[in-house]
Amino acid sequence: SSTVTTIRDNAPLLPGVKNIIAVASGKGGVGKSTTAANLAVALAKTGAEVGLIDADIFGPSVPTMFNCEHEQPGVTDVNGKNMLIPIQQYGVKLMSIGFLAPPENAVVWRGPMASSALKQFLGDTLWGDLDYLLIDLPPGTSDIHLTLVQSVPVTGALIVTTPQKVALADAKKGLTMFQQPQINVPVLGIIENMAYFTPAELPNNKYYIFGENGGRNLSEKYDVPFLGQIPIVQSIRESGDSGYPAVLKDDVTAEAFRNLAENTAQ
Ligand code: ADP
Repeated sequence: SSTVTTIRDNAPLLPGVKNIIAVASGKGGVGKSTTAANLAVALAKTGAEVGLIDADIFGPSVPTMFNCEHEQPGVTDVNGKNMLIPIQQYGVKLMSIGFLAPPENAVVWRGPMASSALKQFLGDTLWGDLDYLLIDLPPGTSDIHLTLVQSVPVTGALIVTTPQKVALADAKKGLTMFQQPQINVPVLGIIENMAYFTPAELPNNKYYIFGENGGRNLSEKYDVPFLGQIPIVQSIRESGDSGYPAVLKDDVTAEAFRNLAENTAQ
């Protein structure tokens, strides 16, 4: 658990959180946020206490994906310090810049402001006791990544990629960033999203639209676990847009995310 202290009050940051897990990708649009959201809900469904921080300050998607775009976190006084109360939805505690500032404001922020927002989400939010706190990071490698690893002891990182060459090249950069000695965050594994497409009328066919097994090959090359494949499914996109994560429906798609949660929890 946490032994890092905040500069401000010298108290341990997030002492009640057992696992802090970064969800990262190299390229944007590969399904990192979708994966983080479904994973959070899947873990909560197993009975775990779960929180999710939307650290994608410039493009927050948690409020939409959890259908709570108009929610505003409450504030409470804890030993003379104002603490934000996370929004709760589908059994997951949530914090996002989208709850605090209109998205059009956040996009024009400079790096230091984005970093201080993340610090607030970590240190000034009433997370309580959690088994998992997932951090949905922005794509690429940024100040936000550094702020995260410098502020709290990150248990490990999940790398989301599609099997496409350009996505893999960026995923490699993300992976090696976590493995750098100064950062030294264990890579828990690679998740291959949009791995293939199976049309309803051809249930036995798999079309490898973005290429085949790119994520698996990457995991072998860098000797990190391969956590699973998520196919391209229209309902995953639809459930993201409608704010009802796909894992809440009891079908094969939900099963893919449940398996992912099981592999991550190990
Ligand atoms: P990122 O966080 O990497 O930018 P998102 O999670 O926002 O990516 O996903 C990008 C888009 O792709 C969204 O519209 C999302 O609904 C869609 N999407 C993600 N994963 C899948 C999938 N497995 N099947 C279908 N659509 C997906």
